[in-house]
Amino acid sequence: MDQTERNKRQSIIDHCLEMNRSGLNQGTSGNISVRHEDGLLITPTSIPYESLSPEDIVFLDANAEPHGPHKPSSEWRFHKDILDARPEANSVVHAHPTYCTTLAIMGMEIPAIHYMLAVFGGPNIRLAPYAIYGSKKLSDYAVEALRDRKACLLDHHGSIAIGASLEQAMWFAVELETLARQYHGCLQLGDPPLLTDQQIQDVIDKIAGYGLSDD
Ligand code: 13P
Ligand code: ZN
Repeated sequence: MDQTERNKRQSIIDHCLEMNRSGLNQGTSGNISVRHEDGLLITPTSIPYESLSPEDIVFLDANAEPHGPHKPSSEWRFHKDILDARPEANSVVHAHPTYCTTLAIMGMEIPAIHYMLAVFGGPNIRLAPYAIYGSKKLSDYAVEALRDRKACLLDHHGSIAIGASLEQAMWFAVELETLARQYHGCLQLGDPPLLTDQQIQDVIDKIAGYGLSDD
């Protein structure tokens, strides 16, 4: 393993630890992947993040063959299908954040409550229909819910965010949970007024790339 690959593997572990430290995720829920060569590097299934070292991260090749001492995340299929469908993305972050998951359990997508929706690519964050974890069906639903978007919710499950880099995918995951928390707060007070599609489009035109870099 060369130093570049080792750094990628360590970065996955560091972001998993940060995801749990910040409260975005807990336990062994959630998983992270980064594009690598003709495949992807992904967290192993069901192993506490605190005990991971770079060698424990699984390489999944272009034929979805795992390489390494552990089985890949049970969600390897949507990580692979998303990276295959979205050449501009190099990383996928899946978590079970409390507010995203609360809305997803209630069958709700996130509508245009705030102009920051625009950085995700459109006037809503879609909700992928329920399918059992690790299934091809869940993967198909997730790829569709992510069309023209940087994130989606998963019914009765959690969230997925993607990015040009792992840092960017994590930025979207955190921002998504903030929007979910704001929407949850609004719903305590009533039926929130929404921005129009045109207002969101105006923001897309104005701040495409806000706070982000393409590396
Ligand atoms: P893994 O431990 O297999 O990555 O699964 C966690 C999860 O979030 C399943 O949806
Ligand atoms: Zn999950």
